[in-house]
Amino acid sequence: MGCIFFDRYTWTMNAIQVLPDLLISQIAAGEVVERPASVLKELLENSLDAGAAEIQVSLESGGIARIQVEDDGDGIAREDFALALARHATSKIRSLDDLEAVGSLGFRGEALASIASVARVALTSRTHGSPHAWTLSAEGTGLTDSAVEPAARQPGTTLTVSDLYFNTPARRKFLRTEATEFGHCENVFERIALARPDAGFLLKHNGRVSAHYRVQTVGERVGAILGKEFSAASHPLEAEAGTLALRGFAGAPQAARSRADAQYFFVNGRYVRDRLLSHAVREAYADVLHGDRQPAYVLFLELDPRGVDVNVHPAKTEVRFRDSRTIHQFIFHSVKRALSPAAGQAPVAYAQIGMPGQDRNGAIVPRPAYRPFQPDLGVEQPVAAYQSLFARAAGAGAAAGEGAGTGADGTQAPAPLPQGSLQTGLPLALPHSTRPDAPPLGYALAQLHGVYILAQNEAGLVLVDMHAAHERIVYEKMRNALDAGAIQRQALLVPAMFQADSVEVATTEEQQAALDMLGFEIGVASPTTLAVRAVPASLAGGDLSALARSVLADLREFGATEALAARRDEVLSTMACHAAVRANRILSAPEMNALLREMEATERAGSCNHGRPTWYQLSMADLDRLFLRGR
Ligand code: ADP
Ligand code: MG
Repeated sequence: MGCIFFDRYTWTMNAIQVLPDLLISQIAAGEVVERPASVLKELLENSLDAGAAEIQVSLESGGIARIQVEDDGDGIAREDFALALARHATSKIRSLDDLEAVGSLGFRGEALASIASVARVALTSRTHGSPHAWTLSAEGTGLTDSAVEPAARQPGTTLTVSDLYFNTPARRKFLRTEATEFGHCENVFERIALARPDAGFLLKHNGRVSAHYRVQTVGERVGAILGKEFSAASHPLEAEAGTLALRGFAGAPQAARSRADAQYFFVNGRYVRDRLLSHAVREAYADVLHGDRQPAYVLFLELDPRGVDVNVHPAKTEVRFRDSRTIHQFIFHSVKRALSPAAGQAPVAYAQIGMPGQDRNGAIVPRPAYRPFQPDLGVEQPVAAYQSLFARAAGAGAAAGEGAGTGADGTQAPAPLPQGSLQTGLPLALPHSTRPDAPPLGYALAQLHGVYILAQNEAGLVLVDMHAAHERIVYEKMRNALDAGAIQRQALLVPAMFQADSVEVATTEEQQAALDMLGFEIGVASPTTLAVRAVPASLAGGDLSALARSVLADLREFGATEALAARRDEVLSTMACHAAVRANRILSAPEMNALLREMEATERAGSCNHGRPTWYQLSMADLDRLFLRGR
């Protein structure tokens, strides 16, 4: 850390003055226009607000040189051209009442003005009734109505933003590499495309098509953006209570990731990052996800717009709920239910998931889509509606007796084991055995539901979580090898190729040294393809592209090599998790016994590297107590 010289930060005080307009816009731009991706977001939202069904985006140099968005929406009338680029000018709200019930994505009327204050902007637009289009170029300031000229164009709008920050060089310095900026633009594009499968989207970068989504159903769009793996391993979800509705897809635990990069939450069609919402989801996953694994999900919450304040943050990625407790509970229960549907409750079919803007058959219903479900119910209503909903579902469990372990959420927990019967300290010491030749963890008897190994040892029954145990073994082996500088690498006869996004490609280029140290050889085969040429030998069996992706995600997050050294164990954990036997794999008796022997030989085998226990001992005495068998 360098020290700060205060004399560089002194300034002279002047009399108070009203700031010039351009400067006001440039200050506002500081909040709204953080990088090319934020410009793209504003332009895409404007196109959607204008009712566009087809949107084409074309970027140059990561959006730094040029961002162009073309739509087939309502267009802007000639007389509104100058206003569209003026600050605090919007066609979307007229009054405070409108603001409180706002259903459009934009309403602040400052995005275009802010963008025009820090970039060159060209606007071409034609309304449906107009015989031809009009065009206007603006640079910094000095917009005059006379600068509007006739032009040729189909009905709709084209906005071109070039040379971002050309007049504010200090801000330009904060921009990252083209690849990184493009990665951010891609993220924004994907989020917006996810929210609106009823519109078609095309994304080009430096003249090449990088993504193209036709009008699709929600399920198809989610599959197109999050990948088939996610679609295959996710639970469709559809829940309604009062004026609240939640739809979408909750990724199964096996779709979880090492980074929170596949978590999409939309509130009334708007992508948001909100602590309350992510906390509710996280809690719902608590029983099925352990350690720092991050769930993957795409969820759409709809509620009466009057129940949520979107005017909290200039970029509107944060929201405030009027009745946050109800929302939290509703989301928690809905997601939890989707992850483990109660017996007899039919799971929602994948293709069945509709969303605002689409009915269940994927047909498009007229916009505006975000009408409250029951407009006459006030925002206080959800509490009662939601409580009765879940009380009904939980009825059977509650009747069975409170003390028997019905959770506050109405789910039925198993009868508790007698107090103190389980040996739960972590890490566990291996059971002591009186015979020197008897292995402490005993011999495998059976495998339970593809998840647990049951083994018999001298003391009684040993339960092993086979994935967690294997993960710990692989992890310890790799750690030792890395310490000794001897990670054995295995070259692949046929490189594993996979489609990569620009961020993954950039990380691969920047982190060659770290990859090499970890035993990987990954090369850039094309701007969108990575080739895994060698991997650590102990990991050679699994899904190598998934492994490479996770490791790249970690490297990107941990960044510089010094940081990597500190976070090395986390990267190793990610690698081990991929290599470890998956739940639901049937193991033979010799395989199970081999795992038990390796566990005994491995340091810290008592807990997996995500901190969960890998095995439990149930002694004969524990079992006797369980069955009230006196001695
Ligand atoms: P806001 O979206 O908050 O209203 P903006 O500065 O983003 O503010 O846009 C100002 C106005 O310009 C909008 O209210 C809208 O009337 C018009 N506008 C912007 N982009 C488009 C577009 N693609 N199609 C039609 N009208 C647009
Ligand atoms: Mg806008």
